[in-house]
Amino acid sequence: MNRTLQDWTLAAEALRPDARSLISGTRVTNGDAAPLDVVNPANRRALFQLVSADAQTVDAAVQAARASFADERWRGQGPGARKAMLFAIADRLEARAQEIGLLDSLEMGKPISEAVAQVSIAALFFRHYGEALDKLYGDVAPSDAATLGLSLIEPRGVVAGIVPWNFPIINAALKAAPALAAGNSVVLKPSEIAGLSALALAEVALEAGLPEGVLNVVTGTGPVTGAALAAHPGIDLIDFTGSTRTGRAVMGLAALNGTPSHMELGGKSPQIVFPDMAGSIADIAPVMAHEVFWNVGQWCVARSRLLVHASLYDEVVAALVDAAKTYVPGNPLDPATSYGAVAFEGQYRKVCAYVEQALGQQARTATPWAPREDPGFAVAPVILTGVSPRMAIAREEVFGPVLAVMAFETEEQALHLANASEYGLAASVWTRDLARAVRMGRGLTSGRISVRSGVPGGEGSGMAISAEPFGASGFGVAGGMAGLRSYCRIKGIEFTI
Ligand code: NDP
Repeated sequence: MNRTLQDWTLAAEALRPDARSLISGTRVTNGDAAPLDVVNPANRRALFQLVSADAQTVDAAVQAARASFADERWRGQGPGARKAMLFAIADRLEARAQEIGLLDSLEMGKPISEAVAQVSIAALFFRHYGEALDKLYGDVAPSDAATLGLSLIEPRGVVAGIVPWNFPIINAALKAAPALAAGNSVVLKPSEIAGLSALALAEVALEAGLPEGVLNVVTGTGPVTGAALAAHPGIDLIDFTGSTRTGRAVMGLAALNGTPSHMELGGKSPQIVFPDMAGSIADIAPVMAHEVFWNVGQWCVARSRLLVHASLYDEVVAALVDAAKTYVPGNPLDPATSYGAVAFEGQYRKVCAYVEQALGQQARTATPWAPREDPGFAVAPVILTGVSPRMAIAREEVFGPVLAVMAFETEEQALHLANASEYGLAASVWTRDLARAVRMGRGLTSGRISVRSGVPGGEGSGMAISAEPFGASGFGVAGGMAGLRSYCRIKGIEFTI
């Protein structure tokens, strides 16, 4: 059914969110801390109040997950049964896509059409890892006739997934799907500003028949609920996505118990444009704009640095300014809106401060700079020229719709500029010269690289590609079979006959 703005507005008004934690299949009271308001950033109205789950609540969630792991109610099921369960979760997610999408739209100011579509992407993760789990083979070691050596693949135990707010349902699925596929039990900690869809995911999983205690969700702030989870001795793997700063704090907490961790952190990813790309700049500019401005620039792999050959500088900037005009902040509940609000006030102020600082230095905006706070927090795309590599806007992650443009003359200089970052999450290279593409692919210190010769037309294979970030962007493999293996322990057994 195609809903109108009025339908969505009525559905939003009828919502009575329950943000309490979900442990062992039951909603529990989070404790008695002072509640905080969770606000819709598109209109600055309070949606509901959230009490952060305290240490006892977090402990109850970890104990529930441990119990479910110990009695093998999930990991003891065969691969066929686990695969069917992940598929059933995917089906139910899709069946409830409108309801779950509305939660993400209201909490994050995300356009409703995208929020609903992202529930289907979350479902894809469950299908992908469901398909993969019965292809997880161990190894037989070379040995003589009297011995047999095996490397067995086993689940790690209890995985703590701590995730940010930028794609709430996708982030929850990105942690839960591979962890569950590998046979682990899970405690998820979504962001305090966007936790309702993670709770909905856990409810969907229960409806699909996932045993109680296998997927638990604790809701609350990072310093209270997140820190209690990261410091808990009953966790076997901390699977964290968020900023580099918080990730390092979480590593410190993990070190208290020697808990292994997987860190997917920040980025300042470059988009490098050589003169030999195929197609006209006008055709390609919308793709380049999407790579940085989609989701109001609030995505980890946003290509927030544009490195462009000096001969194309003016033409590419002009085409990007045109492309940026199509990103108009609108009411997220209007199905026609494709560009939403900045997710919360602190993020809005951070984006504004970075732009003001750059303008106070030598940068200039090629686009109108007119942030607004009424009715909600909105920043239209900002394209900054006159940027030098030493400026903060060229080095630090803004996590907003801000593009810093710099010119280069030679391929060597482009590579040097691209790698002059503490981060190393992703990069795009625009060229149709195969030899150059290979040199750049090998030389870039980025975990995920897109090489594009012209406007892309094929189907992406993002989640099937395994990759590991560089530097301050974290560590641990995500995606594909190698990503799935990082949720497993490898046990060596030698039999002597
Ligand atoms: P944060 O690091 O602030 O938060 C991430 C998660 O950690 C949230 O659930 C947060 O809770 C929690 N948290 C905060 N403080 C602590 C603490 N002391 N102990 C334990 N947990 C804590 O990141 P943002 O929410 O601001 O998200 C944006 C960042 O995430 C960007 O840097 C972005 O690049 C990165 N990111 C990386 C991705 C990747 O794949 N590499 C993908 C997506 C985003 P709460 O929100 O409730 O405070």
